Amino acid sequence: MARRAAGSGRRPKLGQNFLADRSAAGRIVDALGDVSESTVVEIGPGRGVLTDLLVGRAKHVIAIELDRVLGAQLRMKYTHHTGIEILEGDVLDIDFQSLLRRPRVAGDANHPFTGPARVVGNLPYYITSPILQHLFSFHHLFSMMVILVQREVADRIAARPGGREYGLLSATVQLYARIEKLFTLPPGAFAPPPKVHSTVLRLTIDPQDQALGVRAADFLEFLKLSFGQKRKTLVNNLKLHYPEAEIRAALQKAGVRLDARAEALPLTKAAAVLKALRSSGDRC
Ligand code: SAM
Repeated sequence: MARRAAGSGRRPKLGQNFLADRSAAGRIVDALGDVSESTVVEIGPGRGVLTDLLVGRAKHVIAIELDRVLGAQLRMKYTHHTGIEILEGDVLDIDFQSLLRRPRVAGDANHPFTGPARVVGNLPYYITSPILQHLFSFHHLFSMMVILVQREVADRIAARPGGREYGLLSATVQLYARIEKLFTLPPGAFAPPPKVHSTVLRLTIDPQDQALGVRAADFLEFLKLSFGQKRKTLVNNLKLHYPEAEIRAALQKAGVRLDARAEALPLTKAAAVLKALRSSGDRC
């Protein structure tokens, strides 16, 4: 319940650091490309610095805000606009399938465009990972996400395997999307200023599950298990679910060292281990 906002101007607990740099707002919306034929889902519109730009450009805007006072203010602000819906609620509760694929009602001017939607948001940083996981569970509905996240989180998302920063978040995002780091903003670009720098990322949805020969849901479970305890080797993490002899055989078959840790493995190798485990399990 901690996330439920009763509503007031600024709630630090809801990650309310509003973007004050209008030129940065323009660059963020520009990074979405031509949205004149697209639905854009905005996460956490706040006082509407990005929303103001989106309403003139996008075919349809769906802005999801948890703070009830901000939501009500936005609804008043855009009361005379068509092509924008303000939803008050927690983005983590949104069923995007029902929202974006709802049947058209006759005479409804406010209806999402049927093509893949784009997502934009200066995300509330306290729930960046849950938001990404939630969005990716509906990845078939989206083509692109332009998001502002804490710089260190952006670095982790874009990290390559083998480095210190590569982890479950990197692997998950890289399973679903191509990542571009666009630009970084200092704390002074926001009001009130956060303690951290912020980086704008563009994620172009490009799921790798088919190319890797795995089912995304199974592979995500396998990745969670593999990264279970950071200091443990892959063998030790996987031992929670697989017999050790099968793990060792699978690593050998996939060409992975027996003392490897999950953070050393590119997605191709991780998928090869999962497939080798599957085939040894099938033989039993
Ligand atoms: N987009 C605005 C801007 O750039 O100035 C506000 C960004 S502020 C960093 C994050 C916004 O997300 C706030 O308006 C906050 O109330 C909202 N928010 C926080 N948690 C949320 C949630 N779970 N679902 C939807 N909105 C949320």
